[in-house]
Amino acid sequence: MKHYDVIIVGAGPAGIFTALELARSNKGLKILLLEKGKDIDKRTCPLNVKKISCRECFPCAILSGWGGAGAFSDGKLNLSKDVGGFLLRYIDEGSLEELISYTDNIYLQYGAPDKVYGGDTEEVNKIKEDAQQYGLTLIPSRIRHIGTDRCPGVLQSIKKDLNSHVETLFSKDVEAVLTKEGRATGIQTKSGESIYGDFVVLAPGREGSLWLEKQAKALKLSLLNNPVDIGVRVEVRASVMEHLTKTIYEPKLIFYSKKFNDRVRTFCVNPYGEVVKEYLEGVCTVNGHSYSDKKTENTNFALLVSTQFTEPFDEPIYYGRYIARLANLLGKGVIVQRLGDLKAGRRSTPERIARSNVKPTLKDSTPGDLSFALPYRYITDLLEMLKAMDKIAPGVWSSNTLLYGIEVKFYSRQLKLTGNLETEVENLFAVGDGAGVSRGLIQASASGVMAAREILRRVK
Ligand SMILES: Cc1cc2nc3c(=O)[nH]c(=O)nc-3n(C[C@H](O)[C@H](O)[C@H](O)COP(=O)(O)OP(=O)(O)OC[C@H]3O[C@@H](n4cnc5c(N)ncnc54)[C@H](O)[C@@H]3O)c2cc1C
Repeated sequence: MKHYDVIIVGAGPAGIFTALELARSNKGLKILLLEKGKDIDKRTCPLNVKKISCRECFPCAILSGWGGAGAFSDGKLNLSKDVGGFLLRYIDEGSLEELISYTDNIYLQYGAPDKVYGGDTEEVNKIKEDAQQYGLTLIPSRIRHIGTDRCPGVLQSIKKDLNSHVETLFSKDVEAVLTKEGRATGIQTKSGESIYGDFVVLAPGREGSLWLEKQAKALKLSLLNNPVDIGVRVEVRASVMEHLTKTIYEPKLIFYSKKFNDRVRTFCVNPYGEVVKEYLEGVCTVNGHSYSDKKTENTNFALLVSTQFTEPFDEPIYYGRYIARLANLLGKGVIVQRLGDLKAGRRSTPERIARSNVKPTLKDSTPGDLSFALPYRYITDLLEMLKAMDKIAPGVWSSNTLLYGIEVKFYSRQLKLTGNLETEVENLFAVGDGAGVSRGLIQASASGVMAAREILRRVK
């Protein structure tokens, strides 16, 4: 019978940092890391090689495998405690700041660049004051940018270091968590293999959030709702955002819409980047990234509306997926629309898109009409914020601005966890985006460190 001290499910940043922290303790723990995707050097999106549809590639090579969704991400490390997750629910501000700095240092050791954006406070404060006049709140955030092209290298270095301490098995899809008398005892894989361990850490990411929700229901764990974040990816000429992105890199702006008083925010800004497709369990959504040494002429960012639904509704993930599916149905994937066409109440056509001075970086998108997929409330919120943003970044409200849909953030169900991220089952921990505790690389990684530290405290 196979037995380990710790079994970790998912080799994204949360799972990797759990393993790293355990390995660094030199306690000689027997650690097993299970990942349903492939190793980093074998992760290739078939769309880049030959015209194979996303539907034929499971699990998605972009989201699954060593490094998780972070492997080909833009690698923007958000060093502010107010951004990228909810860890402040579990620890105080000082502890989180320390933890972020600790986690950031590890990324530095493995090859993240020294430069940090957003440190120029006088300039940042000027932008903040300016934004305030138009109802926009700027959340100052320090960012270290690894870059999509450098991320795999950083992850490979970590893997090399971990190889001698951690057993990693790829293409291992975990089916269920095993428990006995309210205590975790191991896992069972989809192929029916049972593996036992004293501690189990679940780090399945957004990609595995539905799976985690199913596990939670089977184990009778309490689930809380997170907001549903739905919106579009906006693409403008890079010069429109240049004065903001060169100072802050990722301007995080929050706006409360006048009509509905909904919270609308910018997210994942990619200066000189490109818009990309994301495929999540049968649904095609949109995202963006940028390279450190390859630039396009455009900047893209997500504009998301956060809505906290109330009882009896308790299916935020399904709601988000449903809206994204509508766009898929209409556009056979991602829809792109010029802002001018949306305002004029007409669909975009290939000819209209071609007339735009913003050339779409996502070629594989269908010109169409987002108002057939997004409810009126979302369209109204998004338009209000774009208009306000135009005051601090003239050109955002231009007819040429491109909107891609749908962008949905599925960090939806939150498990009830202790301050150490342990679930209501003893020795079963849940970390990262899938557990609803993070929504970015740094806090996902930091949550892994938190769980590992608690495990280390308990083992002799
Ligand atoms: C295109 C893109 C760009 C992004 N850019 C940024 C950015 O610039 N900055 C930032 O901070 N964040 C960014 N993010 C978000 C960031 O990648 C995530 O917040 C982070 O990866 C979450 O880490 P995680 O370990 O919780 O989950 P993930 O990275 O999603 O990893 C989870 C892993 O678990 C595996 N898994 C799931 N279920 C199972 C199972 N049942 N059995 C075995 N394995 C399983 C999955 O295959 C996956 O590899 C981006 C995300 C995307 C998709």
